[in-house]
Amino acid sequence: MAGRASPDPSPHRPVNVLLCGVRGSMPAPGLAFHRVGGHTSCVAIEASDGRLLVLDAGSGFTRLADELHGYALRGTVLLTHLHWDHWQGLPFLPNADRDDAEVSLLLPRQGDTSAHELLARSMSPPHFPIDPSGLRGAWTWDTLDEGTHHVEGFEVTAGAVRHKGGRTFGFRVSDGDATLAYLPDHAPNTSSPAELDAAEDLVRDVDVLVHGGQFLASERRLADAFGHATVEDAVGLAVRARVRQLVLVHHAPRRTDEQIDALAASFEGGDVEVLVGREGDRLVINGA
Ligand SMILES: [Zn+2]
Repeated sequence: MAGRASPDPSPHRPVNVLLCGVRGSMPAPGLAFHRVGGHTSCVAIEASDGRLLVLDAGSGFTRLADELHGYALRGTVLLTHLHWDHWQGLPFLPNADRDDAEVSLLLPRQGDTSAHELLARSMSPPHFPIDPSGLRGAWTWDTLDEGTHHVEGFEVTAGAVRHKGGRTFGFRVSDGDATLAYLPDHAPNTSSPAELDAAEDLVRDVDVLVHGGQFLASERRLADAFGHATVEDAVGLAVRARVRQLVLVHHAPRRTDEQIDALAASFEGGDVEVLVGREGDRLVINGA
């Protein structure tokens, strides 16, 4: 993977990240959206031995077919929450639905309900032809608590964040040098002071913060109603937490390429480097 983040030639093996889906709410097909990309939330991080750590499995999950070159998916999928746009791609990646696939799926704990049952509420007849057990290969489903876990060779800290309609996590992923945080669905504006402090701690000093930016300041009422950030909220959080680079994702499904280009230009020269995440972007994170 080659990318556009830091060119630092440190001996540390960089962390390679692929943005597989950067849309929020629903896929956005069509010529007006093709440069930014239409797939919903998914970020893939290269682990060791060809394994992957995948954050969310929206429709962008299916892009991994191009990365796996005919090999089965082996790795872990962490879901931030259970809204459709964060796991609708799960049954549609052929590399993850074959006998030699090995996938551990982890999602935020919701009381005593098992992960399989939580998924099966949406993924089972009559809503869908199969339930999660219908996926071929060695799949496991489990719930995840807040705190720090060791996943695919990374230190992953899960922190609950304010969103709407179901427990939602943000993730901080580190290999000891390079650090990425991923909060696609997060509402700083309606967070309590304690929630805001916790979110800032989760993303503090990271090399790359991948954060939702579905709404504009002029859409504040909608952002709050949907439980999301405005781009200004995301920039404010990034500045306060001293992140090196902010990558905006979870773009509104009707926000065109031209509108997103204009948005990106408006942040040039600010207090934090802001990039608009585009589907297919590869980030190389070198760390300190
Ligand atoms: Zn959501």
